[in-house]
Amino acid sequence: MHLKSLVLKGFKSFADRCAISLEPGITAVVGPNGSGKSNISDAVLWVLGERNAKNLRGQAMEDVIFAGSSARKSVGVAEVDLVLDNADGTLPVDFSEVSLTRRMYRSGESEYLINGSPARRMDFMDILHDTGLGEGAHSIIGQGNLDAILASRPEDRRALVEEAAGVLKHKQRKERSERK
Ligand code: ATP
Ligand code: MG
Repeated sequence: MHLKSLVLKGFKSFADRCAISLEPGITAVVGPNGSGKSNISDAVLWVLGERNAKNLRGQAMEDVIFAGSSARKSVGVAEVDLVLDNADGTLPVDFSEVSLTRRMYRSGESEYLINGSPARRMDFMDILHDTGLGEGAHSIIGQGNLDAILASRPEDRRALVEEAAGVLKHKQRKERSERK
């Protein structure tokens, strides 16, 4: 599975439609300060279902919608579409390509789409479960988080490594069955 493309429209500083195609392997995004690099990783977090505006470096969720600039006025809706290549069947759906779309209006109303069909946030969580991309996962490490990880307790750091290695879910399952 790999991230194939990302399309942003009205999301943070991306007022116009901006499509980014990605190949397997390492991709680097470079640009001057304030040009929108971190906004791209915010878009990935957001489309995957992030609910905490602080994790998107904002005060309120509405801050993800393009707020206008000296050159143009604000927009009413933010949309991010993320396409995952699922040729290897990592995601538990019968599609070789999975498009996850999230839209949000100024009214606060959110829409989720899977391959263009209306879905719920919970459906996103179900698809992403076990992939390391879901809620609370550490697939994205922000600029300030690295120091916190390095300074954390050895047990917490171990949990991160276990999550990355896919051991954590088995451990949680074992604990759950032992409790029964
Ligand atoms: P650095 O190199 O400093 O980390 P960066 O390339 O990561 O910079 P970002 O933090 O992604 O930059 O982008 C910040 C810019 O995005 C700021 O100019 C900010 O005004 C703009 N921005 C953020 N949210 C919105 C919004 N809702 N509407 C319009 N512009 C926004
Ligand atoms: Mg940045």
